[in-house]
Amino acid sequence: MRTNLMGYGRQELGEFFAELNQPSFRVDQTFKWIHQRGITQFDEMTNLSKSLRSQLNEIATVKVPVIEKDLLSADGTRKWLIRLEDGNCVETVFIPESTRGTLCISSQVGCSLTCSFCATGRQGFNRNLAAGEILSQVWLARNLLRIDVNDRPVTNIVFMGMGEPLLNYNNVIPALEVLLDDCCYGFSRRRITLSTAGVVPGIQQLLKDCPVSLAVSLHAPDDDLRTQLVPLNKKYPIRELLDSCREYAAYDRRWRVTFEYILLSGINDSPKQAKALVKILSGIPAKVNLIPYNPVPGLEYERPDQSTIDAFRDVLLQSGIVTVTRKTRGEDVDAACGQLVGMFRDRTKRSSRLGSNSLPKKIQTTTSAGASL
Ligand code: SAH
Repeated sequence: MRTNLMGYGRQELGEFFAELNQPSFRVDQTFKWIHQRGITQFDEMTNLSKSLRSQLNEIATVKVPVIEKDLLSADGTRKWLIRLEDGNCVETVFIPESTRGTLCISSQVGCSLTCSFCATGRQGFNRNLAAGEILSQVWLARNLLRIDVNDRPVTNIVFMGMGEPLLNYNNVIPALEVLLDDCCYGFSRRRITLSTAGVVPGIQQLLKDCPVSLAVSLHAPDDDLRTQLVPLNKKYPIRELLDSCREYAAYDRRWRVTFEYILLSGINDSPKQAKALVKILSGIPAKVNLIPYNPVPGLEYERPDQSTIDAFRDVLLQSGIVTVTRKTRGEDVDAACGQLVGMFRDRTKRSSRLGSNSLPKKIQTTTSAGASL
């Protein structure tokens, strides 16, 4: 088995070259070839000595998964279905805007959480992605966009695809380090956003190990409702979650935590709930991202009408909270928030439990599947 260097961080690659009695600058050179120039063939890495190149051909490889499907939405959003070595597929979405290009990447094959409104959660869970599989999504997107659409750059990375990144901590951290490394992708901490359903110990650890922008999927202003929508709330209730966000935001006085709030008609979209949200966020450097519900087959939730969405937003704005309503992008190719399902075998059997014969009615029944953390 040849070693796949795709997922190697600075330290691992340093140890790898040290064992080959190579100088440490080989790390920077190799990083630049792989991640900046998109080169996977050692023979093309011309500043490595010929003998090193042939040695690398024997013992190492730079493997990238293949693109199984490439879908382009009418609004320019692009969704890739990426086939991993074991046959599982995950999804990655590129969202071009006038001033930036955001790449939304997956951290797990499926998701072990069972948020009641999310298509990924209904599909069940298969496994964590390796660091190399997380990075490959960025590598593939960058190289495809470079060739296809005149160097359309990826300026921002969001961990908002399939999976809960803080439940794949040990692979997400090395991937973040490579994304930040100046010899690789060189993103600033502000331009990488990790989104979590609220894994409190993970938030605390992230602050110590590798702080990047944080987004928290809040979705409700009180514990009763939040536990119905996001069963993980039972384990980490709102108060604890917000305490960890307060600490996180203190890392840098320019930082704000983004709170994502899905809007579900008649469930969490009333002005009273907006006021309650203002109250619990007080004192936290926050911004709120309202996400009107995107339809998931088999679920009976509905998106509120525009006036309800605007009224909810206005309550937040009037109290001084920076609030934006997230524009729905890529819906025609099922690339919008909560619509990513990939292709894989569910190990939790959740997808068959929630099969089309037993469609959950409203939230009370959908959450009965319970979290299997
Ligand atoms: N597990 C992480 C990362 C996924 S991010 C997290 O929960 O934050 C995906 C975002 O899309 C989350 O904010 C999620 O709550 C939201 N989402 C899920 N299903 C959705 C749907 N049907 N419509 C709109 N947003 C949805």
